[in-house]
Amino acid sequence: MGVKKYATVEEAVLCVRRRRRHRVRILNEIEEELSNIRSRLDSGSKDVGVWQRKSGYKQRFSTQEIWKQLRVSKPSCAWAKGIWISQATPKYAFIAWLASLDRLSTLDRVTKWSRGLDETCVLCKSAKETKDHLFFECTYSTQIWEFIVKGVMGSSYTNRWEEIMVVVCDTSREKKSLFLIRYSLQAVLYEVWRVRNKVRHGEKLLPLLVIKRMLDKGIRNKISMMRKKRLKGMEDMIQLWFSYRM
Ligand SMILES: [Zn+2]
Repeated sequence: MGVKKYATVEEAVLCVRRRRRHRVRILNEIEEELSNIRSRLDSGSKDVGVWQRKSGYKQRFSTQEIWKQLRVSKPSCAWAKGIWISQATPKYAFIAWLASLDRLSTLDRVTKWSRGLDETCVLCKSAKETKDHLFFECTYSTQIWEFIVKGVMGSSYTNRWEEIMVVVCDTSREKKSLFLIRYSLQAVLYEVWRVRNKVRHGEKLLPLLVIKRMLDKGIRNKISMMRKKRLKGMEDMIQLWFSYRM
């Protein structure tokens, strides 16, 4: 073609050479394209940079569109908004995330790789330990759950995991109550999981009253800390918490 192997488009267009006919189709197409560019330049139209957008080549750049073009998008996770909440305590949110994925090492899962293990729940000793049993169908943990959230959940109170997930994802609920339910869920999950691990490693089961008091105090401390930050829409939350505790 008389064009250097590593020439840029600009060099190919601007190098002085006569158009030729080729036996190979692609070379004729390249000639055609080069001559198109050349005639466009001759007609005086300005050379501009463009971006490939959804609606074709455009001069305006959109980071959002480029980002979407670069990544492979997957359907959004339905419960993510109920778990990754603003003002969460990281260690609580982490355990809540693992529980949502059913990735905590509950005994039903452990026995899959370690056969012959006793699967009985260490808290109530009367049912198989699964995520759904531990949170919060177990006679021990359900009492803690009920004590902490029954007031704030009101008529939507439930101890079934699937239904709890629906409640924490229901954004039509009043903002402060929703936060209290979500935060309480994470705090109770964390505490039940901690107590369960302690018992499993030989420690004594703590009296329910002690855990209930500890959780209530922990949640109140969180609310007090948030009050100092003066978060918009989160005013008077401590009064609200007390009103549900009556
Ligand atoms: Zn149990």
